[in-house]
Amino acid sequence: MRLKNKITLITGAGSGIGKETALLFAKEGAKVVVTDINEASGRQTVNEIEEKYGEAIFIQVDVTQPESVQTMVEKMVTTYGSVDVLFNNAGISGVGQAHALEYEAWKRVMDVNVNGVFLVTKYVLPYMMAQKSGSIINMSSCIAEMGLSDRASYAASKGAILAMTKSMQVDYAPYNIRINALMPGTIFTPFVEDYLSKDPHPEQTIEGIKRRQLSGELGKPIDVAYAALYLASDESKFMMGAPFMIDGGVVNGKSV
Ligand code: NAP
Repeated sequence: MRLKNKITLITGAGSGIGKETALLFAKEGAKVVVTDINEASGRQTVNEIEEKYGEAIFIQVDVTQPESVQTMVEKMVTTYGSVDVLFNNAGISGVGQAHALEYEAWKRVMDVNVNGVFLVTKYVLPYMMAQKSGSIINMSSCIAEMGLSDRASYAASKGAILAMTKSMQVDYAPYNIRINALMPGTIFTPFVEDYLSKDPHPEQTIEGIKRRQLSGELGKPIDVAYAALYLASDESKFMMGAPFMIDGGVVNGKSV
């Protein structure tokens, strides 16, 4: 019970890493506020938590819409009073080279991945500041530390999240609020299945993903959920403004 009675808010908790983390947090004793743009998948996560582990509520949110975020936070506060852990997990992929990328597609990636993290954090912070405690976990990516083809928009968004994490940490350390970033490599989720489904050679792409790792396996949502659990718990109290790699050795494991 590493999160016993902690109130935890997770965005994008209807699918992939967010869902796996919601289940793990509940198993570890947390009360989980499951939020997602997708009501059906978010409610499914809540059902699974209630069947297996304990307490959760669903609140729909579009993290790009300030009013939607504000309403979501108000509903959470009405139920639980405050929040101990915020996991800014919701995000979308962005594929394409700059010269061929529509400006609208670029802006959409920035809106969900960067503005979404800013907005949810902005409206949650006053409650953490008032209680003088909190852990915020921002979903960046190992791509913030490396170059990868066709990913300029996505990489820019994840780099922005890492930079935001470090500067926000300085501002909120006096309130005993910790803010850290998760840096996963490729994790097999619906997000990855979606871009593989548009790939003319998915098998080759999977082999390519494995080649750039040291691990022979593809990452799984639970690999990232365990890292989120550590950042959420008081065990990580000395981790502040830090990038946390969970990438099978992609970034730091190269010998050439
Ligand atoms: P996923 O399975 O697609 O889950 C993301 C969830 O976020 C979905 O339920 C999605 O709803 C929701 N969402 C999308 N836009 C939203 C919005 N505007 N407001 C609220 N919720 C929204 O993705 P995942 O692979 O678990 O990825 C989760 C996070 O990890 C993302 O930030 C991603 O960039 C990051 N990440 C993933 C990998 C990887 O390889 N999978 C690697 C590094 C980092 P819909 O399904 O309805 O769109």
